[in-house]
Amino acid sequence: MTAILATCDERADRLGNRELVGSDATELKKRESIIAHCLAMNRSGLNQGTSGNISIRHGDGLLVTPASRPYDSLTPHDIVYMDMDGSHRGRWEPSSEWRFHRDILAARPDAEAVLHAHPTYCTILSIHGMEIPPIHYMLAVFGGPNIRVAPYAIYGSQDLSDVAVAALRDRQACLLEHHGMIAIGSSIGQAYWLAWELETLARQYHGALQLGEPPLLTEQQIQDVADKIAGYGLSDDKKEKSIHHADT
Ligand code: 13P
Ligand code: ZN
Repeated sequence: MTAILATCDERADRLGNRELVGSDATELKKRESIIAHCLAMNRSGLNQGTSGNISIRHGDGLLVTPASRPYDSLTPHDIVYMDMDGSHRGRWEPSSEWRFHRDILAARPDAEAVLHAHPTYCTILSIHGMEIPPIHYMLAVFGGPNIRVAPYAIYGSQDLSDVAVAALRDRQACLLEHHGMIAIGSSIGQAYWLAWELETLARQYHGALQLGEPPLLTEQQIQDVADKIAGYGLSDDKKEKSIHHADT
C-alpha cells in the first residue's frame, strides 16, 4: 500500500513539473486540456455542476475525469489514467461513465477525445426521445443527416455504453435519452466545438418546432454541404494541423 501511495505521489510530482519533456509532457498537456475544457463547458453554460465528463486517448488507454469531483478543484494529477481493460491508476475513481469513454475510443479509431455533457436544449430533445433531423446545413459536420438518440439506460452502465456506441455509428455526436449528449472529435478542441454546434442545433430545432413542423433539407443537400465544408472551422482538425505543419 505504501509503495502504491509513493508511486502515486512520484507521478503527481512529475505531472506538476512544467519542465517535463517527451511523453510525460504530452500527458501533462492532455491532463491540463481536459481540465481547461471541463471549466470552459461549465463557464459557457454548456454544462453545469459535476455533470458531464471528458476523456482523451493516451497511449494504449485513456485519460478521463474523476467521478463527481468539482471541475474548479481539479489539478492535473486528479485526472485518471485507464487501460482499455478498465484497470486504472490515480487518486480518484474514474468517471462513472468510463465504460462509454473506453468503448467509444475502442470502436472509433478516428476519435481522440470524448465529451459528455447535459446541455439544456440537447437534454430537452432527449427527454422527448427526439432525434435532430436535417433542419440546418450544419448537420453535415456531424457525418450525416441526423443526430440519433440512444435509448435510455441508467447512467454508468454497460447498457448505456452499448446504445451510445450504436447511436454514434458514422456520426460525431448523439443524444442520450433522458440524459444529455456525447460529442467525439479528432481532438478535444474539435469535440468541444461540436458539442456547442450540437447544442445550437438543438436550440434551433426547439425554436423551429414552436412555429410548426419544420421543413427539412434532403440527404443530398446535407451530402453537398459535407463535400464542401471539409476544413471549415474545426470540422477537419487533423487536416488543419497537417496543413499547418507543412507550412512551418
Ligand atoms: P461523473 O461525475 O461520474 O463523471 O458522472 C457525471 C455524469 O454526467 C454521469 O452521466
Ligand atoms: Zn451524464
